[in-house]
Amino acid sequence: MGLSLPGIAQRRFLALVPTLLVLLIGALAYERARSVIANVQAVERGHAVVETSAALLTRVIDAETGQRAYLVTGQETFLDPYRGARDDTDRLADSLRKLTRGNPAQAARLDTIQKLIRDRFTLLDTPILLRRSGATSAALNPDRLLAGKRKMDQLRLAVANLQTHERAILAGRNVAERQSVRVTAIALGVAATLALILSALISLAFSRALQDRDATNTELRQVNEDLERQSEQLETQAVEMESQAAELEATAEDLRSTNDELNRTSRGAMLLNEASRVLSSTLDYEKTLETVARLAVGDLADWCTVDLVQPDGSIRQVIVAHVEEDKIKWAKELNKRYPPEYSGPTGVGHVIRSGQPEIYAEISDEMLVAGARDEEHLAIMRELQMRSALIVPMIARGRTLGALTLISAHKGRSYDDADRTLAMEIAIRAAIAIDNAQLYRSALAASEAKSAFLATMSHELRTPLNAIIGYQSLLKEGIDGSLNESQLAQLSRIRASADHLLMLIDEVLTFSRLEAGKETLRRHEVELRAIVDEAVMMVRPLAEAKGLSLRVEVADARIVTDGGRVSQILLNLLSNAVKFSERGEIFVRAQVKNGAMEISIKDAGIGIAAENLERIFEPFWQVEQSSTRRVGGTGLGLSVSRSLARLLGGDVTVESKLGEGSTFTVSVPARPI
Ligand code: ADP
Repeated sequence: MGLSLPGIAQRRFLALVPTLLVLLIGALAYERARSVIANVQAVERGHAVVETSAALLTRVIDAETGQRAYLVTGQETFLDPYRGARDDTDRLADSLRKLTRGNPAQAARLDTIQKLIRDRFTLLDTPILLRRSGATSAALNPDRLLAGKRKMDQLRLAVANLQTHERAILAGRNVAERQSVRVTAIALGVAATLALILSALISLAFSRALQDRDATNTELRQVNEDLERQSEQLETQAVEMESQAAELEATAEDLRSTNDELNRTSRGAMLLNEASRVLSSTLDYEKTLETVARLAVGDLADWCTVDLVQPDGSIRQVIVAHVEEDKIKWAKELNKRYPPEYSGPTGVGHVIRSGQPEIYAEISDEMLVAGARDEEHLAIMRELQMRSALIVPMIARGRTLGALTLISAHKGRSYDDADRTLAMEIAIRAAIAIDNAQLYRSALAASEAKSAFLATMSHELRTPLNAIIGYQSLLKEGIDGSLNESQLAQLSRIRASADHLLMLIDEVLTFSRLEAGKETLRRHEVELRAIVDEAVMMVRPLAEAKGLSLRVEVADARIVTDGGRVSQILLNLLSNAVKFSERGEIFVRAQVKNGAMEISIKDAGIGIAAENLERIFEPFWQVEQSSTRRVGGTGLGLSVSRSLARLLGGDVTVESKLGEGSTFTVSVPARPI
C-alpha cells in the first residue's frame, strides 16, 4: 500500500484531529451527564407530584373519616385527624405548587384541586358545628352527606387527573431520554472509532517518519564513512596528480607541436582542394599550372617551378613563380643559362628519369658550392637564397611528364615528409590535368584530320565515279554501236551500284560538312508532293525487288524549305525502312500540321530495342555491328538526317518496338521561322 509519509505540518494537523475528537467526546459526555442529572431531577419531581397529590387526597379522606366518626359518636378525639388536615393540605398544596412550577396546565389543575379541597372542608365544617350544638340529625342530614360525597368524587377525579398528566410527562421524558441516550451512544462510538483510527494512522505515520529518520541516519553515517574514505583516496590521488601534472605539461608541449603540424596539414588540404579545382576546371593546362604554382608560392614555398619533358626529350621550364616578383628574373636567368640536364645525377633531370622525389631539408652553402657549375652559377644560386628544396615527379598514366620544384628561401622552414606527400598529390593532379589536355588536343587533331580525310576522299571518289556514270550513259545510248539485252542489263547493274556509291559518298560529304559547320541551306517554295515523290521514286525499285508494298499519302501543300535536303532525309529513312524490312507495307504519310511539315515512314520491319532508340542517331552507330551485318550502310544515315532536320529548325524522331516495326518522323517548319 502506497502510504506516503506525511510532512511536519500534516503530522501536526493529524495530531490535532484526535485531540479535537477527544474534546468533542468529553463535551458530549458532559452534556449527557447534565441531561441525565436534569432528567433524574425531573423524574423525582414527577414522582413527588404524584406522591404529594396522593398524600393530599389521603389527608382530606382522613379528615372526612374523622369528621364522620365525631358526627356519629360525638367524641372530640375523633376530630384529631380533622384538625391537622387543613394545615397539612395547605402545606402539601404549597409543595405541589412548587413542584408544578413551569407547567401552567398542572398549575391550573392544582388550582382546581385547592378550590375543591377548600369547598370540601367547608362542607365538613358545618355538620361539626351542628353536632356540637346538639343538632345531631341535622348534622347527619343525608343531602348534606351526598353533597360532601360529590365534592369528594370531584376532588378524587381532579387529583387523578393531575397524577395522570404527571405520569404521561414522565413516560414521554423516558422515551426522549432513551432516544437521546442512543444518539449519544452512537455519536460517542463513532467519535471514539475515528479517534482510534486516526491515532493508528498517526502512529503509523510517526513510526514511518521515525523509520525514515533512522534510515537517513544510517545513510548519513555511511556517507560520512564514504567521505572519509574518499578524502583519504583524494589525498593519495593528489600526490599522483602532482606527478601527472608534470607529465601533462610534457604532453601539452607535444600537443602544441602536433597542433602546429595539423594546422600545416589542414592548410595543405585546403591548398590541395584549391589546386584540384583549378586543375580540373579547364583544358588550358599552362594557365592552370601557373595558378597552381602561384597557390603553392607563399604557403608552401617561396618559389615554385614546373619543368616538362618535351617530345624531343629535352626539359623545358614552363612555369616560374616567386613570392618576390623581381626574383623571377633571376630564377629564369638561372634556368636559361644552366638548364636542367635530363641525364643529371640529381635535380629535375634525375627526378624525371627515376620518377622518385628528392628532398633537401637544409641547403648549406657548401652544398651550393659543390653543385655550382661555375662562379656565376654559384652567385645566382646564392642570390636566390635557397634554404630547403623539394622536387617531385609529375606522373600520369605511368608516364612522368615533368617535375614540380618547390624552394624555400625562408630561414625557419625546411621541407619534411608531410610536405613531400602534399607536393606529390599536387604534382599528380597537375600531371593528370596536363595529360587530359594533351589527350583532348590530340583527339581534336585526329577528328579534324578524319574530317579532312573524309572530305578529300569523297571528293576524290566522286570524280572517277561521275566518269563511270558518264561512260555508262554513253554505252547505253549506243554511241559505240547497239548493245544486246544482256549487255544492257549489266550496264543497268553498273549504274545501280554507281548510284548507290554516289549516295554513300554524298552522305559522308554531308556528314563532314555538317561536322565542320559548313553545310548551307537553300530554301525556296516547293510542293510537298514533289519532295516526297523524289525520294519515293528512288526507293520504289528496291522495295519492289524485296516484295514490299509502298503506300504514299501526301497532302496538297506548298512549303518553303530546302527541298533537296528534306528529300535526302526522306531517302535515308525510306532506304532504312526497305533495308530493315522483309515483308509487309511501308507507309509514307506527309502532311502540314500546326505550321510544320510532318512526314512519317512506318515499316513492319525488325524494329529497334528501347535501349538503342537514341543511340541509332549517333554517327557510325549500328545495332548490328558491321562485321556481322547482312545489310550495307555506313551508320551515318540517321546522324546526318537528324543534323539536317535540326539545321532546318526541326527534328527526326522514332517510335519502335523490337520485332514490331518502326515509325520514323521528320518534322520541319513549313515556313522559315
Ligand atoms: P546505316 O543504315 O547506314 O547502318 P543509319 O544511321 O541509317 O545507318 O542507321 C543506324 C542503325 O539504326 C542501323 O544500322 C539499324 O541498326 C538501325 N535502324 C535504322 N533504321 C531502322 C529501321 N527502319 N528499322 C530497324 N532498324 C533501323
